[in-house]
Amino acid sequence: MNDFGLSIWGNSNFVIEDGKVCINAASKPAIIDIVKEIRDDGYRGPLLLRFPHLIQKQIEQIHASFAKAKKEFAYKGSFNAVFPLKVNQYPGFVKNLVRLGKPYNYGLEAGSKAELLLTMAYNNEKAPITVNGFKDKEMINIGFIAAEMGHNITLTIEGLNELEAIIAIAKERFKPKPKIGLRVRLHSTGSGLWAKSGGIHSKFGLTSTELIEAVKMLKKANLLENFTMIHFHIGSQISEIHPLKKALIEAGNIYAELRKMGASNLKAINLGGGLAIEYSQFKEESSRNYTLNEYANDVVYMLKTISEQKKEIEPDIFIESGRFIAASHALLVAPVLELFSQEYTEEKLNLKKNNPNLITELVDLYKSIKPSNALEYLHDAIHHTESVLTLFDLGYVDLQDRSNAEVLLKLISKKAVVMLGNKSNSSGDLAKIQKEVQERYLLNFSIFQSLPDFWGLKQNFPIMPLDRLDERPTLPASIWDITCDSDGEISYDDEKNPLLLHDVDVEKEDYFLGFFLVGAYQEVIGMKHNLFTHPTEATIELSNDGYKITNLLESQSILDIMEDMDYDIYEIQDTLNERLEKSTLINETQKKQILGELYLFLNDNSYLKTIN
Ligand SMILES: *Cc1c(COP(=O)(O)O)cnc(C)c1O
Repeated sequence: MNDFGLSIWGNSNFVIEDGKVCINAASKPAIIDIVKEIRDDGYRGPLLLRFPHLIQKQIEQIHASFAKAKKEFAYKGSFNAVFPLKVNQYPGFVKNLVRLGKPYNYGLEAGSKAELLLTMAYNNEKAPITVNGFKDKEMINIGFIAAEMGHNITLTIEGLNELEAIIAIAKERFKPKPKIGLRVRLHSTGSGLWAKSGGIHSKFGLTSTELIEAVKMLKKANLLENFTMIHFHIGSQISEIHPLKKALIEAGNIYAELRKMGASNLKAINLGGGLAIEYSQFKEESSRNYTLNEYANDVVYMLKTISEQKKEIEPDIFIESGRFIAASHALLVAPVLELFSQEYTEEKLNLKKNNPNLITELVDLYKSIKPSNALEYLHDAIHHTESVLTLFDLGYVDLQDRSNAEVLLKLISKKAVVMLGNKSNSSGDLAKIQKEVQERYLLNFSIFQSLPDFWGLKQNFPIMPLDRLDERPTLPASIWDITCDSDGEISYDDEKNPLLLHDVDVEKEDYFLGFFLVGAYQEVIGMKHNLFTHPTEATIELSNDGYKITNLLESQSILDIMEDMDYDIYEIQDTLNERLEKSTLINETQKKQILGELYLFLNDNSYLKTIN
């Protein structure tokens, strides 16, 4: 049975029961039932479902793995985690993370002034805040204010000029001071799509020379005691563990050396993010070569070994995992609006009394195709159809003949792919033919808005239908979104591992595709191409006897979008009114009706309602 790779990427978060994808917790509700309940209240278009229990699961796992590793190696430093807000700043995520992280003293990481102010409002009291990224004087001042308010905050310095600013500001501010961290520039770099944040040429961090200089500056300014942490980040979604080990050795030695230079309050190493998750639906395309337990063991073991060698205390470990914590909590559900070859049905055939020979032969192929001859007949059908097209160009057959040939080829192809199944065949012909006969599914969503990393980086996300999983899917599929941009397509290009979907009649039944693991980065990077905005979202809280839909937020209305783009929405409405008023083509009653209609359209969101 095709489980769409659930056993590879699913992390036991979902199960298939009675042909439906169900949440594998509590009463195991089927996602399709939740979706239908929300749609019954009139919401259309794509839906973003949030599952707080999956945030909790990741928080627990990361803590459990490090607790286990610490125990195994009798490690004396503490383990601390902060969530980097850049990965998901939406309140529907952040508030749950902070609440669920409270028992673990889970903190937040900020990379901009806006994010920093958010941490100051929402962070669990006493939980750590770390601040990375380029900072101006204002941002440093905000950091000092956080410390003055009682937050446990560490400002990580990315360059010496920032340190100069901190030293200057420290003289002017009140007594409680933020802790200071130094970001180190390592030679080691990660691997994978996002590897460029590490390495000696990375955008961030201090070289060895600058580190020595920084310690001197801190000493001179009487701030050395505030220097408590070194930080590095070798990239996101680190696909291999080896570069992390190298980075740990480098950072561990820098830590020990800086302590020997007198930085006696330096007690923490911050590993940044990078912990990968498995996005792949296919075993052979696995996105990482390590597990969380292996990662935790390596970190603890390496830091222990270096500390022993250099006779220094074992550092507290800080981690800034974003993707690992957030990715699984969100699922995008998009309704299928149309199958492009849906119009190729038997009813659309309009055979003449006397058909050209090729058409008669196509009809024969269609009638007599069976599993044992399917591939051969399909080849013949493709060949015949090509001949019909040539004859059409030469004026020997008419448009009706051409239409009949096209319909027959689609019908034969559909039968053939069902008969041939998805077993691979030695000649590779099937793969080619599947590509040839792929069905294009039009989905009510925007790839630019909801899967920007697919658009920008070709990052694949697991895709599967939410029901009918007890039926074999037969149609090799490509996916089109509703933007009018040809990049808004998940094309059929993996011939070895085609996405196979079900043949559905969308006029009679709903069919929904789930895009999983979209909780990290996608929401805020998503763009309003064609003015499609963040989808309608809902939070699903599980209980033993069912689930609760909370925090249901409809996708922005068209007027809201226009306002976001700095249009004067009153001007827009007034102009529409005036132009309607001036029209001489319709009477007063008709104008009134149209005015009402315009009002409704402007206040609705811009995703499609129905297509028929
Ligand atoms: C982006 C970023 C992270 C988060 O990385 P993930 O790969 O999502 O875990 C952590 N720390 C810093 C400094 C970052 O820039």
